[in-house]
Amino acid sequence: MPHLDLPFDPTCCLIEGVWKKPVAQETLELINPSDGQILCNIAKGKAADIDAAVLSSQNAFDGEWGHKSAADRGRILSKLGRLVLENIDFLATLEALDVGKPLKQARADAIALARYMEFYGGAADKVHGDTIPYQDGYTVYTLREAHGVTGHIVPWNYPMQIIGRSIGAALAMGNACVLKPAEEAGLTALAFADLGIEAGLPKGALNVVPGLGPEAGAALCAHPGIHHMSFTGSVSTGRRIQAAAAQNIIPVTLELGGKSPQLVFEDADVDAALPFLVNAGIQNAGQTCSASSRILVHKSRYKEVSDRMAERYGTLVVRPAKEDGDIGPLISARQKAIVQGFLEKGSDLTLCAKGSLHPNSPEGGCYVLPHLFADVSTDHTLAQEEIFGPVQVLIPFETEAEAVAIANGTDYGLVASIWTKDGARQMRLAKKLRSGQVFINNYGAGGGVELPFGGRGLSGHGREKGFEALYGFSSLKTVASYHG
Ligand code: ADP
Repeated sequence: MPHLDLPFDPTCCLIEGVWKKPVAQETLELINPSDGQILCNIAKGKAADIDAAVLSSQNAFDGEWGHKSAADRGRILSKLGRLVLENIDFLATLEALDVGKPLKQARADAIALARYMEFYGGAADKVHGDTIPYQDGYTVYTLREAHGVTGHIVPWNYPMQIIGRSIGAALAMGNACVLKPAEEAGLTALAFADLGIEAGLPKGALNVVPGLGPEAGAALCAHPGIHHMSFTGSVSTGRRIQAAAAQNIIPVTLELGGKSPQLVFEDADVDAALPFLVNAGIQNAGQTCSASSRILVHKSRYKEVSDRMAERYGTLVVRPAKEDGDIGPLISARQKAIVQGFLEKGSDLTLCAKGSLHPNSPEGGCYVLPHLFADVSTDHTLAQEEIFGPVQVLIPFETEAEAVAIANGTDYGLVASIWTKDGARQMRLAKKLRSGQVFINNYGAGGGVELPFGGRGLSGHGREKGFEALYGFSSLKTVASYHG
């Protein structure tokens, strides 16, 4: 096991501002996906630790944290953002080791985490209610108040980014948070919480309990002391979270992934589109909720686009995270088996191109080569189901109506993009595509901390990022005063 020089003990939970061993004193092994070796042990929190964390957050909400002014909350978040930037090399290295992502991606994630703190630090004192004209003798206004204690269950694919968007917005509104990172990748959650102490977050404002989903996660989302749940992950776990939240009648934000299409029309600027067409599919080895796994191309440009994408695929080399290539390993042997299962289901398809494995990649690593399939029919499993690996399908279309029908023809609806110079078509399709975000002549807009993000259908509900998240992390109260 390599020696990780950490300023905190990863076999502990952070509860009440103190690093504490889980009640059961158990740990989990974190595996480095680049070589399959044990990276370190991390706390395996359970229901008793969640109980302690929720109680601590409630006390923080009723006490010091809950009494801070919005400006003071913002100042702490802004300082936290600065600390993230000061520690960017450390955080990026940790994320690259833990998740297996190339270092440059891990750095981009750390920068995004800092941006969330800056954005929500600046926004904390800018959310306010309205005055409402009402009957004679009344003054009516609305207040935006924190929910209280918010629960946050995050996945392993972008721990820093997802913690940033979820915890940043919740803290900005004055909630006290209990965070459960994924069992596969929890180190940056702990490192972030450690920086939170340094930034001046009062004890209990952010508690972190690493542990297994069915244990710590299930205990958190079912806890009667939680007033809002925010979850990013799989559809099946999302269903469980929503069912648990239903028992306590609390709001939930669910971000559950997608099967996001890019639509390339006959008048598209293919030179401009090409990097987005490929990168949006292979970034983070395709383990991205908003990955673009379906490329829909007008028949007149189909050969050109598929040839050029194939050319790019031919240059893609999978290698260990620290070598900082285009693609690292998948998160785990389990995820590798899932993606290989999909590739087997695609054995009837035409393989257009695939990448290669760098010879320096250790045998035990969770490597899967990127695959591009051509002429895929829209009802094929690989064109319908989220794969969460570096796999893209090319689907030809003839008419705009057909393109829209294919784009909208899955159960998901997270992100879509349109490549066309026709302004009327841009406006028309932006409305017709069933999706939480639509990009015109770009894809993903570089992550967009400021841009509301969330899904339709199986992609989930509720909006994160931007100001919209602040509304989600608050409860609206109407005050009607009769004064005659
Ligand atoms: P994956 O299958 O890719 O690991 P999940 O949706 O299961 O995706 O995991 C995302 C997050 O949900 C992780 O933090 C995980 O621990 C958590 N989780 C998994 N199962 C449950 C559950 N039954 N209740 C609450 N959280 C869970």
